[in-house]
Amino acid sequence: MNAEVSRFVDDGTQMVDFLRRYTVVCPECGGAATVVAKKDEPFILFARRRLTCSGCGLSKEWAAGCLGYPSPEQGVDWYFRLPYFFQRRCAGHQLWVANREHLNFLRGYVAAKHRNHRRDARGWSNRSFASRIPKWLAEAKNRTAILSVLDDLEKEIEKPNKRMQRTRR
Ligand SMILES: [Zn+2]
Repeated sequence: MNAEVSRFVDDGTQMVDFLRRYTVVCPECGGAATVVAKKDEPFILFARRRLTCSGCGLSKEWAAGCLGYPSPEQGVDWYFRLPYFFQRRCAGHQLWVANREHLNFLRGYVAAKHRNHRRDARGWSNRSFASRIPKWLAEAKNRTAILSVLDDLEKEIEKPNKRMQRTRR
């Protein structure tokens, strides 16, 4: 591993940045349903979101305008409160990814030996995703296990249809 790869710099990315388009378990058929935020709305956090499932044709909209945040251990999304489709148990915790960008971000964070926090124009931010990452994800003893689960999840993201027949939760 070279120096660039082993260093993670917190660029202020927030969890909501990964929630523009992500995959959850369809509440009707248990397949992979996609949630997409409406692009024309100014504030991404409260932008309306539509869930669609190509497996059973379900279509639902979220437009509540307010949010409560589930704990990361629940492994459910902020809007529809449905389980993220790509998730596994790992080191006694629930490891989930919203989409490929989220997976890549987590991998960069977990693999890094050094983690830096970058000061932005507004000063030091504690709202970034990296500053709120659960502690177990940052622990060196869990690194190998987490990276291995992330590899498995990446394969599933490439071929989500292989798990379309998953049983309903
Ligand atoms: Zn469905």
